[in-house]
Amino acid sequence: MGLIGLTTEELSELVAKHKAPSYRGKQLSHWIYRRYASDFNEMSDLPADLRSDIHQEYTINPIHISACVKSSDGVVKYLFEMGDGERIESVYLPYPDRVSICVSTQAGCPMRCAFCATGSEGLSRNLTAGEIVGQALALQRERPDRRISHVVYMGMGEPLLNYDATLKSVRLLINEVGFSARHITLSTVGVPDGIRKLSRENAPVTLALSLHAPNDQLRARLIPTAMKWRLAEILQACREYFDATGRNLTFEYLLLQGVNDSPEHAESLATLLEGLPGNVNLIPYNPVKVDQTFRRPNTKGIQAFREVLERRGRVVTQRMERGGGISAACGQLRRHAFEAQQPEISAAPER
Ligand code: SF4
Repeated sequence: MGLIGLTTEELSELVAKHKAPSYRGKQLSHWIYRRYASDFNEMSDLPADLRSDIHQEYTINPIHISACVKSSDGVVKYLFEMGDGERIESVYLPYPDRVSICVSTQAGCPMRCAFCATGSEGLSRNLTAGEIVGQALALQRERPDRRISHVVYMGMGEPLLNYDATLKSVRLLINEVGFSARHITLSTVGVPDGIRKLSRENAPVTLALSLHAPNDQLRARLIPTAMKWRLAEILQACREYFDATGRNLTFEYLLLQGVNDSPEHAESLATLLEGLPGNVNLIPYNPVKVDQTFRRPNTKGIQAFREVLERRGRVVTQRMERGGGISAACGQLRRHAFEAQQPEISAAPER
């Protein structure tokens, strides 16, 4: 079991069991969440016998980096292995003005989106809060040159179907690691009860809704398991989230040529979102070698779609193309690791 995942209060309770005063819990918290310690020997101001006692029962980080693949533009995709051998992915994205990471909340995913490698394999299990936060801390330790400023919950899994662990990880990132809630984005396919619950948590993260279609019928083709929640209900929950938190939403829209990218689809999308605050983020599909089902629209088509939305008064952004050399979609690195023992990835980086 990892210490990462425990709050300072829980760490203080832990040291109390070993007859140590509660300030030792705060020291422990400082070492793991602010100094990214990965070895008990680094914790020089904690008594050696206390470190040794805790080490009998706990590791520090419950996950470790097992491989990575680097793109020429600085993006790095990491494969993590957990205690039971399950594997997940995270992505490190450096920009001139910030460093963002994309973390996973589940090993696999139950949503089975038609365009996603992770979804095609189904869910293995939920991650713990420690396994979610552990991704951020391991990457910060791995890349000490720049401070990670933004965390996006957009990796493997549907965060709101692992609600308690996801929320605890958000609180740990804010309260223990020191992230601003404004710099945390939680991406969901739209789980109305989860969105409503989150709006009452006083953890005002940015909510990104993976919309991808302007009507229920088309959406059911792309996100089959999301059919139990109608768009009207999802968008009503989004409105409640905005009312409760004051945070604008982002509507993610994956553009798939000939599927959801016509000007008529753009008109329907604009109508669907009328009265709802938030920008639309267009994501032109990034084709994956192993799956030729979908294609990326051409530049003219993307521009035409965008113009319809803008003419209807919607602010539109387009996701910056990053990680070209590692164009594998979400879940591809994990799949490689399962299918072949020698994928085109490097071994775990040295510490
Ligand atoms: S796109 Fe996201 S929600 Fe859909 S199957 Fe993949 S990981 Fe799950």
